[in-house]
Amino acid sequence: MCRIVPTALLLSFAITSRAVAQTSPDCARPAERPSFVFHNGFWLNLHNFLHRAAKERRGVNDELPAAMTVAAHDTARTRGLTPPERDAWERALQVYLTYPVALGNTDSIVSRLNERLAGARDDGDLRDVDIDATVRQALLLAAPVYREVWWAAHDRRNREWIASLRGLLAPSETCLVRFITQGLSADWPAAPVTVDASVYASWFGAYMTQPPVHVTLSSNARGNQGTLGLEVLLHEAGHALLGPLDSALVATAARQGRLLPRELAHLMLFYTAGEAVRTFVPGHVPYAETFGVWKQNASAERYRALLEREWQPHLEGRRALADAVARIVDRLPRQAM
Ligand SMILES: [Zn+2]
Repeated sequence: MCRIVPTALLLSFAITSRAVAQTSPDCARPAERPSFVFHNGFWLNLHNFLHRAAKERRGVNDELPAAMTVAAHDTARTRGLTPPERDAWERALQVYLTYPVALGNTDSIVSRLNERLAGARDDGDLRDVDIDATVRQALLLAAPVYREVWWAAHDRRNREWIASLRGLLAPSETCLVRFITQGLSADWPAAPVTVDASVYASWFGAYMTQPPVHVTLSSNARGNQGTLGLEVLLHEAGHALLGPLDSALVATAARQGRLLPRELAHLMLFYTAGEAVRTFVPGHVPYAETFGVWKQNASAERYRALLEREWQPHLEGRRALADAVARIVDRLPRQAM
């Protein structure tokens, strides 16, 4: 089953000893074997924009600080709506306010819409796209208004953001991918990971669906700008690589009679993606530090210290994953007998 993973932010600190930062010619990815392909699609942007507009109408404001817009004027409408446009937009919005499929409350529904809309031709009419008929109707109703009033700004914002991220990724792509795959003891997906730029991408500003591994990132979320965007890109793709680490944690906790906190693997992903970028892009401050993930509670602080001590040596290639996991699990609370 497809699975959507909005990366919940959870964790800040100064790690003193690091792997030696090294950006070398070997770190650039050969152009014929990209790890990521970037995409900017009209229909997925419209769907996510309607989804956000419906939340605003309902008074729901659940965006994390990292997901908040960095430059509202970049994505503002270019003019007011005419009465017919207002009517069409309102009717489409009503579907996103009331129709369960459009609300996207379950993972499989969100994923089913997301994947199919991401693949729809910008100049098409969705007839060849297998999505719910009511949602299709709402999108077709809203499309001329969106294309006329918002899309030029959204499209430009997405293109500029993709160009910026590509520029940051190119010099270190091979090394970043190697760091994350070796750190998580997992293989990169056989096909390049598709990355969709969207003006809005959930309350977190980013999510991943699979299979196939597909990352959607908000082009104007604060947490996705500059090298933070690079880290979020690796983090989201990293969700698809967590199988071996999850398995090692579960098996080791069972063997050592320890209670495994649900958030531990995710915190390890935060740590690993942050270190990947910090290692290869000088001056990067990891997302978890920037947005206070480690400071959200006392246990996050404890895990950060534990990972710095026991996981960092693994990321630097000085300790096997099984050994690092055993040392981490050894510090977890014991299961009740
Ligand atoms: Zn996450």
